Amino acid sequence: MNNRDIDWTRFAGELGAVRTIASGGQLRGKSRDFSWYSPILNEQLKDCVADLIVFPRTEEDVIRIAAAVSRWRVPLTMRGGGTGNYGQCVPLQGGVVMDMTELKDVREIRPGSVRVEAGARIGDLQEVVRASGQDLLMFPSTLRVATIGGFIAGGYAGVGSIRHGILKDADNVRCIRVVTVEETPRIVELRGADIQKVHHAFGTNGIITELELTLKPALDWLHTITLFDSYGDALRFCKAASAPEFDLFLLTSVEKGFAPFYEHLGVRFPGDRNAVFAMVNPASINQYRELAALHSGVESLCMNAGELEANELPPAYECAYNHTTLQALKVDKQWTYLQIAHPQPFDIALCEALAKRFGDEIYWHHEFARQFGEYQVFGIPLVRFTTAERQYEIMRIFESHGCATFDPHVVTIEDGGMKEIDLAQIDFKRLADPQGLLNPGKMRGWEAIVAEQAS
Ligand SMILES: Cc1cc2nc3c(=O)[nH]c(=O)nc-3n(C[C@H](O)[C@H](O)[C@H](O)COP(=O)(O)OP(=O)(O)OC[C@H]3O[C@@H](n4cnc5c(N)ncnc54)[C@H](O)[C@@H]3O)c2cc1C
Repeated sequence: MNNRDIDWTRFAGELGAVRTIASGGQLRGKSRDFSWYSPILNEQLKDCVADLIVFPRTEEDVIRIAAAVSRWRVPLTMRGGGTGNYGQCVPLQGGVVMDMTELKDVREIRPGSVRVEAGARIGDLQEVVRASGQDLLMFPSTLRVATIGGFIAGGYAGVGSIRHGILKDADNVRCIRVVTVEETPRIVELRGADIQKVHHAFGTNGIITELELTLKPALDWLHTITLFDSYGDALRFCKAASAPEFDLFLLTSVEKGFAPFYEHLGVRFPGDRNAVFAMVNPASINQYRELAALHSGVESLCMNAGELEANELPPAYECAYNHTTLQALKVDKQWTYLQIAHPQPFDIALCEALAKRFGDEIYWHHEFARQFGEYQVFGIPLVRFTTAERQYEIMRIFESHGCATFDPHVVTIEDGGMKEIDLAQIDFKRLADPQGLLNPGKMRGWEAIVAEQAS
């Protein structure tokens, strides 16, 4: 059935006490995310609007909505905080958007783990976890708005990844509870390796209602800025600091072109210096400082979270990951970004050669992390946008030097970075969403199966 033929008032009537919105600015607002970082996606997605927004408060509400969606055969797009960058929660085919932010209870905290509903904002969850003397293993810099379910369904890594690896690393996520989209929805709990069936599937193969995550004892991290004359020196320092003897929660380098986007940091990040932002265990700080001095680094800030707040300064993680791009876009809309993983061992001469080749067209930003037990370097270069063709030309140049690219200008899981069709995720979709109603258009492998069946 075409969405226009649906009697949305009747549909909403079947949802009982579930709050819904069927018109007004919120309909459009809740159909958007942070895909405007990409001028290509911004143009492509600007007319995609949901027909109905629903706000479940309990898992029973979720089941009721899932059953109605299945009966009426309408598209259902899941939404957390809407901070995804690839149009992940933009309803490409309209229909229902399910806003999860009212499903937000922290169910249980134990030493080493937390059980939480998927719509909890990560910042709120972090507060509860901290009160128990523990810390989340990682989070995106958007933690005030982003939900934990959205991070697990749409995210990859984040602040904390240099210590704990990426979300996909074993035991970081312990359990995902999923509601299926069928006339009689079922509840499935995934553990161990099965978690990968739903993690980073962009909400295409199940509604996550609850999660269990690993926790570690809390630490009062020191947020630091260290300045370097050359970006090469900053990279050499970060490479040397990517070693087990340094206990870090974040290690980010940006070149001096970023300084004007961080005016509020003043002399702590002047326009003629390159900066490394880090979160350092107080037990490691002396060693960290000695290493910085060996690379001619000069510390311009070192404060814990309380001191930063008292001085109205941002945490180091607001100068990292995609927050860096956000700072640039706030000042100048001509920027966009790309994402790459550098080949190992990390080759600083290659970075210097690329910097020389692209000049002012690119400002360099690197994140030092770990994945699958190994240190890894991700580049999130800020790129002056001219045309789509140029974006792809730049990506091909990166690839010709052995870098893996994660295209931020596409909406499908596979084209964005996974590169391969994940058969385990597709198999799980057969079970959890047999009618193919969840987030249509985002899983290329599934669309191919549907097209084949139709031909
Ligand atoms: C400034 C900035 C910084 C960022 N930094 C990082 C970073 O460090 N690391 C990183 O990985 N990402 C990062 N991102 C991307 C994004 O913020 C994260 O992925 C974030 O965690 C998404 O959470 P959200 O609640 O906003 O999800 P949304 O954007 O609402 O949704 C993301 C995806 O998850 C699906 N989804 C949401 N909730 C559910 C659910 N309950 N069940 C099933 N599917 C669901 C949606 O359909 C969508 O496909 C950043 C983005 C911005 C704008």
